[in-house]
Amino acid sequence: MIVMKFGGSSVESAKAIQRVASIVRDHSARKPAVVVSAMGKTTDRLLRIARLSAAGKQQAAGLELARLRQFHLTEAAYLARAAQAIRLDRDVCALFDELDRVLREVAASASLTPRLSDAVLSFGERLSSLIVTAGFRQAGIDAVHLDARDAIVTDGRHTQAAPLFVETNALLRRKVSGAQVTVMGGFIGATEDGLTTTLGRGGSDYTAAIVGAALSADEIQIWTDVDGMLTCDPRVVSGAHTLRSVSFAEAEQMAKSGAKVLHPATVLPAVKQRIPIVIRNSRNPNAAGTRIANENPRDGAVLSIACRTGLALLQLVPRNTPVTADFGSEIWDAFQQAGVEFDLIATSRKDLSVVVDAASLTPEFLHRLGALAEVEVEENRALLTLVGQNASRNPSNLTRATQRLCKTPGGAILAWCSDSRFAFVLAAQSLYAAAEALHHEFFAQPDPDLFVPNRASVTVMERASVRSASIVALHSIQ
Ligand code: ADP
Ligand code: ASP
Ligand code: MG
Repeated sequence: MIVMKFGGSSVESAKAIQRVASIVRDHSARKPAVVVSAMGKTTDRLLRIARLSAAGKQQAAGLELARLRQFHLTEAAYLARAAQAIRLDRDVCALFDELDRVLREVAASASLTPRLSDAVLSFGERLSSLIVTAGFRQAGIDAVHLDARDAIVTDGRHTQAAPLFVETNALLRRKVSGAQVTVMGGFIGATEDGLTTTLGRGGSDYTAAIVGAALSADEIQIWTDVDGMLTCDPRVVSGAHTLRSVSFAEAEQMAKSGAKVLHPATVLPAVKQRIPIVIRNSRNPNAAGTRIANENPRDGAVLSIACRTGLALLQLVPRNTPVTADFGSEIWDAFQQAGVEFDLIATSRKDLSVVVDAASLTPEFLHRLGALAEVEVEENRALLTLVGQNASRNPSNLTRATQRLCKTPGGAILAWCSDSRFAFVLAAQSLYAAAEALHHEFFAQPDPDLFVPNRASVTVMERASVRSASIVALHSIQ
């Protein structure tokens, strides 16, 4: 069997769901189990409504909620007919009534606790999975709905819950039938006590991998709005090429470095059982997509550029002493205790530089760091990461990248490398120009064995402006 996961844009409307039904029908011989995200931007909309409710803005929340309800009812009505339409309409209304009650709880407590946030956000996938099941049935697919909360058992870490694999695997094996097409929502689960949880934003990909691993699937397909994993986010550079294949480790590195097309946790369950993951485009189902599997297509080559924004660069200078191992471990403890994750860390005798999500810099955390070191915070930072197994061991890659960035407005502030990547910290406003310049440097003439070339790219990239700037410091630690 296979698992087919369809993201928000693939199920954003009744029309999109009909497209998905035809893709699933084409794969019926492979006994698909289907995982869906919330429709379109529903999760963002739910979050906005919940925040308005918590802030006491009931009227604005009510208005947004009514719009979201109408959107789901309209799309649902377009998909189902006769008795099924009546049942679906009733089920969608019942879910919105329940959501209304949860939002009252949010308003009453005047805060959006992680538990309530999960309860609210879960409605996106609960609604979409019901609507998609009805759409499939209307399209002649023998589909059956499974509430993901009855199969994905997690710990109680609301908003970032981790699956309990033994319990989850047993339930999935019992509840996902090979005879019918099971449709379930991604992203959501429940604790053993029945409290609704979520796996973290973008977590539907992870659900697909959990299901695939539990059922020893032949393949996990992630259907999205691009042709596969690309050489860069097409929203950042124009003319990115599609990778034909990447290794699990490279895909994971790309995802961790900001390639949103795949949730970083997706790879782990798949790699354990060597189940290939294929990224495909639901709007262009004839494209082969990108295959993520064990094999590495080209050791030493740069395969992709990933971008992350919303970061801050912390420079931590110990008072009166050089950087020592003790200083490093005190800083490490402070990060651990505050639960703050960092992307990379570079050190010199004088200071320690750490890149963190700007949102994690609470006053309490900065105060804690301030007790250990002089802290300088540079906000509005972005990270550009070049990914490829052993790409950083090929000295010409690093030289080409740094030289290219030296000529780009804003340049880079800090560079860092390990076996499978090298990363540059930049001012956020330089990100687009820097990404375009690096993309041109590495992918102006894409190797057709590795990439499906984007025909429009070469001319567009020629236009990318390249001006001067400087790299202030270049640290490298393994
Ligand atoms: P879905 O709703 O299907 O889960 P996402 O929005 O989560 O889709 O992920 C798809 C988006 O990921 C693309 O539209 C693209 O903008 C972004 N993206 C970022 N980096 C990459 C990359 N290297 N390759 C492909 N897409 C990327
Ligand atoms: N709907 C969830 C989100 O927007 C999960 C997902 O789409 O993967 O984060
Ligand atoms: Mg996604």
